[in-house]
Amino acid sequence: MSSKNFTKALQKKTALKHIENLFQHQNEVITKDISLAQRYLDTIRKLAMSFRIRLPREIKRSYCKHCYTIKTPENTRTRLKGSKLTIFCKNCNKFTRIPYK
Ligand SMILES: [Zn+2]
Repeated sequence: MSSKNFTKALQKKTALKHIENLFQHQNEVITKDISLAQRYLDTIRKLAMSFRIRLPREIKRSYCKHCYTIKTPENTRTRLKGSKLTIFCKNCNKFTRIPYK
């Protein structure tokens, strides 16, 4: 591995740590200040994009993949259909299906 690649890998690692940290903050404020939580999520997504990081499943599932709004019990409707979890987003009126077992 060249030193340039090594620096990149290190940056990625640091960014991921930062993302995990931000996600923790997001979860802490989600019930108190949803707009702040949304800002944390926007930062997380920007970081992930600029470092080409694939977001952990846990984070990915915390927002709507169509409109990037944080899912809360108020703005989503969750139904279990067979082996799939169907989440309806009231913000963009779209469904997200997640395999469930
Ligand atoms: Zn949505």
